[in-house]
Amino acid sequence: ANAATTAEVRAAVEMQADGVGLLRTELAFLEARAWPTENDHVAALEPLLALLHGFVATVRVLDFGSDKTPPFLAGIQTRGIELLLAHPDALSSQLRAILRLAGGLDLRLLLPLVESADQVRAVRRLLQVAAADVGWTPELPPVGAMVETPLAAERAHEIALEADFLSIGTNDLVQYTLGLDRMQPLATAHSAADPRVLSLIARTVEAAHEAGLTVEVCGEAASVPDVATLFVGLGVDELSVAPARIDELRTTVRVTSASDAAAAAAASLSDESGNEQGEVLGGLGG
Ligand code: PEP
Ligand code: MG
Repeated sequence: ANAATTAEVRAAVEMQADGVGLLRTELAFLEARAWPTENDHVAALEPLLALLHGFVATVRVLDFGSDKTPPFLAGIQTRGIELLLAHPDALSSQLRAILRLAGGLDLRLLLPLVESADQVRAVRRLLQVAAADVGWTPELPPVGAMVETPLAAERAHEIALEADFLSIGTNDLVQYTLGLDRMQPLATAHSAADPRVLSLIARTVEAAHEAGLTVEVCGEAASVPDVATLFVGLGVDELSVAPARIDELRTTVRVTSASDAAAAAAASLSDESGNEQGEVLGGLGG
């Protein structure tokens, strides 16, 4: 499931999700007047992570910027991990807070809007220091890179060599690839079936698998059954959606044969009609 609040995490557990594939951490701080402190992060995350023992907990570090810009960052042009790496103390505070809460959890860390392998390396260096600071002695948690722009998909092979898993953010990928408005989630979700987007997803899946990594999709598009089928057909290993969509998605995946999904994905990929997603989905019967 995708979640950002205690209610959503609770709903995910009730819907018998296998875990949280995307825990958004920035929503608690959208009105913040300064970078959240380590203790601010602990206070925000503790009640959510307390519910996730026994589940995969994929915690994404702050994805500020664009439509998620708090007042103290008004006017900034960067977002995601680039913005955080420009403020390493702020990122380190969050990493220490996450590690302080991580005991006994099946924790994965997720980095938003990654566009280079260097960014993943830089976060790993900060994570090592954060671990030493809080006395974390177990193995460090896996670090995943979100692929959310055409550039990231083009560089997916090099990013996959540095990351422990990949996660495709279709809300942003569709917006950046097709120039659509991500504030129109339904249009954005269906447009993930556009061959221009699908080919970037296919490239990302291939890069992940060549590097021996799993790859998930955690954008809205994964909750549209026909589109989720295409993702399965492309070889995506994990899907993460809003808790309310889990049942339908699980049914879709269970009734779909792998070979039908692969055939649908191949047909959609080779469709040259571009943004006619209605046609792209026409062959899927539903
Ligand atoms: C996405 O872009 O698809 C995504 C999951 O991240 P967010 O919606 O938080 O930007
Ligand atoms: Mg995104």
